[in-house]
Amino acid sequence: MSDAPSNTPGEGRDATAQPGELEALRARADEIGRAVEAELAAASPELGEIEAYRVGHRHLQAANLLQLVVPASAGGADVGDLAPPSTVSVRALVACRQALAYRHAMADLAFVEQGLGSFPIALGSADAGLLERLSGVARGEEIPALALTESGAGSDLSGVATRAERDGDDYVLTGSKTYITNVGVADFYTVLARTSGEPGERDGLTMFFVEHGAHGLSTRGFQVMAPHPIGELFLEGVRVPAAHVLGEVGAGMDLALANLARFRITVAAAANGFARRALAESVAHLSRREQFGRPLSSFQGLRFDLAEMDTRLRAAELLTDEAAAAVDAGEEATAEVARAKLFSTENASWVCDRAVQHHGGAGVRVGSVVERLYRDTRALRIYEGTSEVQKLVLAKHVLRHTPAPGHGGRA
Ligand SMILES: Cc1cc2nc3c(=O)[nH]c(=O)nc-3n(C[C@H](O)[C@H](O)[C@H](O)COP(=O)(O)OP(=O)(O)OC[C@H]3O[C@@H](n4cnc5c(N)ncnc54)[C@H](O)[C@@H]3O)c2cc1C
Repeated sequence: MSDAPSNTPGEGRDATAQPGELEALRARADEIGRAVEAELAAASPELGEIEAYRVGHRHLQAANLLQLVVPASAGGADVGDLAPPSTVSVRALVACRQALAYRHAMADLAFVEQGLGSFPIALGSADAGLLERLSGVARGEEIPALALTESGAGSDLSGVATRAERDGDDYVLTGSKTYITNVGVADFYTVLARTSGEPGERDGLTMFFVEHGAHGLSTRGFQVMAPHPIGELFLEGVRVPAAHVLGEVGAGMDLALANLARFRITVAAAANGFARRALAESVAHLSRREQFGRPLSSFQGLRFDLAEMDTRLRAAELLTDEAAAAVDAGEEATAEVARAKLFSTENASWVCDRAVQHHGGAGVRVGSVVERLYRDTRALRIYEGTSEVQKLVLAKHVLRHTPAPGHGGRA
């Protein structure tokens, strides 16, 4: 079977020429992903998600790949022309995430969470102590988590009710967060809390850096359908020094959205990695398995499936490349990102579902690669902006920017 990840020589990327740095990153990420996949395949089926996450993290740390999720100015990798030192290169993250997800979700998750949870510091703090913590993140010595969502605030973050009251030189945080990735492994959290106003108001939110070991902080893990360290975060009168405010007081929503604007497109890349692997697994299985005296790959109905999987996947990758290049170029690219995230994540679910179908009973057997991909893919349509939220964003753009009939055939 050809299990080379997407974009290795041979699969080509002729429509969007990729700089050599990205090819080199893909190759490095693929090597790490292979090692994670091999170690987890050999591990006991009883291995929990926290331990599995630590396997992914350890390999990424050893290979220095985590430096890519932190800006060079804060101790991260120098990515040359891909991004200025003050930020991270989305194209680099996309290249790595697709290659890592192709191999194993835990390699991908441990990579991206390191950036998603810590980038608000890069965006919003000049505090020397916090910047040193970012260097620790780049070295893999510290694990962050991003804590936005609450039971009353999911797609609409203006519902955030966690309070942060000023008390002398500190803020005192009280409330709870849920669906927080890295609960169970995080050393610190970047938390969105309300410094003024009432739930439902967009203004009055502020982001904070909060230590895991802070007095009054506790967590409770829960499980989702695919292994993922995740859970609730409880803040009961947690004191946070004012120096640990990230960005401006009252500008937390903008900071949270700026963080997501950089990382959301990389969810599409992970989806494409899962889908590429599913296609490779389908090709291998359909070529090998015989029924009715012939390989399954000789049946036209299944061949049409492969053609459609390939076409959709290529379209998803091109949309992702377009959006990543636009974000790296400093454009807002809201529509490009929404399109790529929506299409790639929905498509990955469809591709993985077809792959399960191609495997017949073997496709639903616990432990098979396609069964794992089918579960791994699902949450991507929900986190960092659901598919419906992406559609809302896109519809606004389409209504505003579609020229009247008669103005030409291409946007
Ligand atoms: C595996 C996983 C990891 C996560 N990790 C993190 C994390 O690390 N940090 C963090 O802060 N959060 C995290 N989340 C939370 C995630 O961001 C939210 O689940 C997501 O934003 C959706 O919020 P919700 O679950 O409250 O759903 P809701 O907002 O209640 O939405 C429910 C349904 O209604 C739809 N809907 C909502 N509003 C509209 C509308 N206006 N029009 C049409 N449809 C609408 C949604 O699309 C969805 O289908 C994670 C979630 C998951 C599943």
